[in-house]
Amino acid sequence: MPETRRHFAGRVNRALDDPKLQQALTHAMTGLRARRNVAFESLDFEKGRADLKQRRRQNLDHLPELAQQFTERLEAVGGRVHFAKDAAQARDIIGQLCWNAVSEHGKPGQVRPVVTKVKSMASEEIELNPFLEAMGMEVVETDLGERMVQLTHTHPSHLIAPAIHLTKEDAANVFGTEPTVQAIQQHARESLRQKFIDASVGISGANMAIAETGTIVLVTNEGNADLTTVLPPVHIALFGMDKLVATLEDAVSVLRMLPRSGTGQIMTSYVNWITGPSRSADIEQSLTIGVHGPSELHCVILDNGRTQMLVDPEFRDALTCIRCGACSNACPAFMAVGGHQFGHIYNGPIGLVLTPFHHGLDQADLPNTLCTQCNACQEICPVDIPLPRQILEHRRRGRKSLRKRALLGLWERPGLADKALRAGAPLSGMLPGAPRLATRPYRDRAPSPSGQGEPLTIFASCMVDRMLPAAAVGLERIARAAGYDIGFPKDQWCCGLIAANAGDFDAGYKLNTKLVDSLRDSKGMIVTPSASCFGAFTIDAADWGPQSGAGIAPRFRDSTRFTLGLLEERPELVRLPGERPRVAYHDSCQSLRQLGLKSEPRRLLELAGYEVVEIPDIANCCGFGGTFSIEWPRVAGRLAEWKLDAIQKTGCTIVASDNPGCLLHIAAAARARRQKLRIAHVVELVAERLA
Ligand code: SF4
Ligand code: SF4
Repeated sequence: MPETRRHFAGRVNRALDDPKLQQALTHAMTGLRARRNVAFESLDFEKGRADLKQRRRQNLDHLPELAQQFTERLEAVGGRVHFAKDAAQARDIIGQLCWNAVSEHGKPGQVRPVVTKVKSMASEEIELNPFLEAMGMEVVETDLGERMVQLTHTHPSHLIAPAIHLTKEDAANVFGTEPTVQAIQQHARESLRQKFIDASVGISGANMAIAETGTIVLVTNEGNADLTTVLPPVHIALFGMDKLVATLEDAVSVLRMLPRSGTGQIMTSYVNWITGPSRSADIEQSLTIGVHGPSELHCVILDNGRTQMLVDPEFRDALTCIRCGACSNACPAFMAVGGHQFGHIYNGPIGLVLTPFHHGLDQADLPNTLCTQCNACQEICPVDIPLPRQILEHRRRGRKSLRKRALLGLWERPGLADKALRAGAPLSGMLPGAPRLATRPYRDRAPSPSGQGEPLTIFASCMVDRMLPAAAVGLERIARAAGYDIGFPKDQWCCGLIAANAGDFDAGYKLNTKLVDSLRDSKGMIVTPSASCFGAFTIDAADWGPQSGAGIAPRFRDSTRFTLGLLEERPELVRLPGERPRVAYHDSCQSLRQLGLKSEPRRLLELAGYEVVEIPDIANCCGFGGTFSIEWPRVAGRLAEWKLDAIQKTGCTIVASDNPGCLLHIAAAARARRQKLRIAHVVELVAERLA
């Protein structure tokens, strides 16, 4: 039965309330991100990413041929290849292989045959351990983190750092040692050494399977992979068909990006290249299989939903994933709630994408709602997988909360929304952490065109109109000072982004079409103080339905670029103060990652006489995320707290941004913790400098 929202929310809240987990997550995620950035100082990320993406996509175009070639090459050197269409078949194959191995090579007197394992997400995917244990085997995870996870009966909470959720005290408890890293490692080394020797089978995954040579590649650090794949008489490697690459060069391209992106290493301690079972021809040049290493190597290639992804144009790219885990490290919501909440067996942003294919949509649709659509995961991904868009596509197909449905129902009826927002405005400030509604929305004060000057239309956006009218007023004052004749078609409402981000593309499309109708007869440029609505209208809306706004999209401008253009051309529009006030600038996720607005708002503020101070970011995203902050107010609040902590470090008392949602969210969080801060839209600050 699918998990209920209530049960899931309970897990999320417990994660937020667990100070040890919170400390472990922020420490690990910020540390991994910092190390990753340093590692890319020695390699051009964009170049490496373009190369890897092109190779991985090309590999996908030829997967059946690569599988065939890999099989031929591996079997030519004595290995065996098995194909498993789903998890059950993979378990059966591996179970049988283990059984055969025990019958043939089992140690006399051993009550439970030992199977050692290297960390493998594919084996988690097929839930292999309980299956083998039910067959009477002793399954021993040999990666330190994975062993901790096994002994605490939890499951990995990160793709490459499975025990992030556990402290050294937790590990010490299960190992029965002193709570020091040295004592735990020493115990693990001693207790596992005999298991490596006793094992009849060693099971690993594979980071790559190279078709041209029949080689599997394992990228590890601890040394346990070598012992697991070399000491037992039988080695079984289980991996998804997406791990197939054509050439050694393809594998090297992965190796350049994987350790850097994952652990921030230029190269891991160990990279194993395994081409068939162990062999020798030292004695009279006659070939012997199984010398120091295994006499059998079996590769189990797993489909389990991958073919379905391969033929789905929306999700095909997810198969290029190299499982580096960088997307989790960059994900603000993951850092707040941890991998057990943010995913199912596969966790993190890529986990949200893969889970519906491997385990069903029911297992992913609640975790999926935790995504703020900040785009940080795609930005850091070494193969540029459009994770946020894919997550949104799953969200579109998944369950929607009552709260979300009620809000969207209201938003789709502008007349009703108008009444509700006016009625709610006087009370809105009373709720701690909630944004304030304007008692006098912008539409009540927006001017009508005078017929004098070049026409310009303001699209305020529903949020600015109702919650941040000062931003529209600022934009209006700047445009008027530059001689524009301002129009504001009163039928305008929402661009549809709120609905689309909540996974309701139909409602997004309807709202967008209504907006197009309301702006169709407007004149001149259409300028909006909402960067996210600008991105939604000009970029995202194409995904929601037949593009009705194509005719007016070329007239759209975001207020930052529009105002910057004005000031660069006519600096006399502003009067510079003697002293430049310091302003902390908050990059909204859409402005930065979708619109590429990085230098522009900073330059604009500087031209208007402000000193821009960078915010030393902890999580990047402030946690607004449209309906996300309504659906998950506590998670959104945690992200906002991190943002406020970071702002505090700047010593600034003014924060600026070009996204109304972020400004309102940060302002509400600052009010809730009584942090004195002026939070202003960039155009408000510029308007205050008008000559
Ligand atoms: S878009 Fe942002 S919140 Fe969503 S999965 Fe990616 S990094 Fe996480
Ligand atoms: S989606 Fe990208 S960032 Fe995430 S694990 Fe895969 S390759 Fe790494």
